[in-house]
Amino acid sequence: MRDRYRVERDKRLRADGNDQYIEVVGEFAHYTDDPYVESPIDRPPLTDEVDVIIVGGGFGGLQMGARLREAGVEDLRIIEKGGDFGGTWYWNRYPGAQCDIESYIYLPLLEEVGYIPQEKYSYAREILDYSRRLGEHYRLYDGVMFQTEVTGMTWDEDAARWIVATNRGDALRARFVAMANGPLNRPKLPGIPGISDFQGHAFHTSRWDYDYTGGGPDGNLDRLGDKRVAVIGTGASAIQCVPFLGETAQHLYVFQRTPSSVDVRGNEPTDSQWVAGLQPGWQKQRMENFNGLVSGVPQTEDLVDDGWTDLIGMMIRRFRDAQANGSADIAEILEMANFDKMNEIRSRVDGLVDSPEIAEKLKPYYRMFCKRPTFNDEYLPAFNRPNVELVDTAGKGVDRITEHGLVVDGVEYEVDCIIFATGFEVGTSYARRAGYEIIGSRGQTLSEKWATGMSTLHGMQSRGFPNCFFMQISQAAFTANFPHLLDELSTHLAHIIGHALRQGAATVEVSEQGEEAWVATIVEKGLGAMGALGGADCTPGYYNNEGQAREPSAIQAAPYGGGSIEFFQLLEGWRANGNFDGLEFTN
Ligand code: NDP
Repeated sequence: MRDRYRVERDKRLRADGNDQYIEVVGEFAHYTDDPYVESPIDRPPLTDEVDVIIVGGGFGGLQMGARLREAGVEDLRIIEKGGDFGGTWYWNRYPGAQCDIESYIYLPLLEEVGYIPQEKYSYAREILDYSRRLGEHYRLYDGVMFQTEVTGMTWDEDAARWIVATNRGDALRARFVAMANGPLNRPKLPGIPGISDFQGHAFHTSRWDYDYTGGGPDGNLDRLGDKRVAVIGTGASAIQCVPFLGETAQHLYVFQRTPSSVDVRGNEPTDSQWVAGLQPGWQKQRMENFNGLVSGVPQTEDLVDDGWTDLIGMMIRRFRDAQANGSADIAEILEMANFDKMNEIRSRVDGLVDSPEIAEKLKPYYRMFCKRPTFNDEYLPAFNRPNVELVDTAGKGVDRITEHGLVVDGVEYEVDCIIFATGFEVGTSYARRAGYEIIGSRGQTLSEKWATGMSTLHGMQSRGFPNCFFMQISQAAFTANFPHLLDELSTHLAHIIGHALRQGAATVEVSEQGEEAWVATIVEKGLGAMGALGGADCTPGYYNNEGQAREPSAIQAAPYGGGSIEFFQLLEGWRANGNFDGLEFTN
């Protein structure tokens, strides 16, 4: 099996790595236009001042806003390019979009807001509505600027203020700025030769064109009845929308380069009896239980009990059994557990797809967690429909796009519409993904500062950028449940900002020693972590830098190698100690 995995990986390795993708600018810029705005805002530019500006109105910005409100910060403003709160869930409205971390731990601040999701895995519409509810609950609509993109940020040293420029000509002033841009926010397109030649309709899954397809997030895409549709990509987004496209399209071609692992979804409505028995503090306990299980830390029970905890649970059980028998070879045990899990995933394909030939093409041959696992009960059976056709590209991708269709292995597939389910930028520069540059003390840009490697304290503050805060995975932590990380980061940042405001501090900045020590910790603990997700022997994807060697400095962009649980404890201890170690305040 190891050999088979290696052969499959080698087929997919390519010299251009991340450069195979096209940045969505210039002639492709329209792919990021907002199709959801109902009433475009027209307003004069603003130049006023607030205590805190948060960039991004997704879960990061909302959680940051919520924790700042709890810390007594009243004067804050969120700037968001979309037309409402929601971030990922504002943009990704494709049919079938659904969270695949359990909603009871994925939707933040449920107990604070007093809300219980309707199902174990919420659909996008409910999450978008919940985002609005968070905005209302924490009064984050006050002062919000929607349909506004930050274009630059400059630190005014004399005034100790950030000047925030936007695409609407604003020059806003703020004492503190917090970046909640999200890790997967810039759609990317594949650099397939001829992509500009296509004369039909085309869009990206994160900007779904319901005017073209008809229907809505629940499906019924009734304008596709006479359309031949191509989906490029078979990642988590495609897995969720393909069944709905298959239901109505005259003909659907799914162009596959690498099959996803598709495990059981098993969604269920929320059990009201279970809800009635919940005790205060239940959500945090559940989040921590899940995070423990997916981090390999033994727990006495598995509260979430789904595909994420299943594999890790199996590994831990096997490890314990082997230890009891005095034969603990952890690497082999983990590998065997992984093989078994992937065999189960591959057998599932045989059980759900009628044609053995098609089933074989849909089987993933790589280790679990080389790529983002997916969970769905309708995707695989969609290939039993006569109007749904899998075009497997044997790991090579689509060869060419023409005026009328797509070419694979010398065959042209004529289509009316191409839907790019090709994901989001990962691994490009921070400024490129954010869409703006941050200019700190003495005119130094963030790109310049991080050109030789990221350097921060806890991933959240960087020397030379006073009063500026980041919410990110790099130099912080990785957890499968991303809002859990955001919760810990926003609690921490609100603690620092709240303190600075209460003390009347003009600036708060990382000390040189504080930053050096944290970077050293990341490097020292980081090597193991880099391999944990998408190691070099994995089939290429964004988890392993498309299979390419990383710059030596990339180690500095790793999350904390001790794991998220240790990182969260470390932050909690840092706050409890009360010395604000590694920070310098000025009055
Ligand atoms: P991904 O990056 O996961 O998938 C992109 C797909 O496009 C891959 O199948 C890729 O193939 C394929 N592709 C790229 N270039 C070509 C080409 N030239 N020819 C053919 N195929 C090509 O994007 P998604 O939008 O699906 O998901 C992005 C991330 O967003 C997920 O990994 C997940 O973290 C998150 N997400 C979460 C969801 C949830 O929680 N419910 C739902 C959707 C997304 P290859 O694999 O070979 O590179």
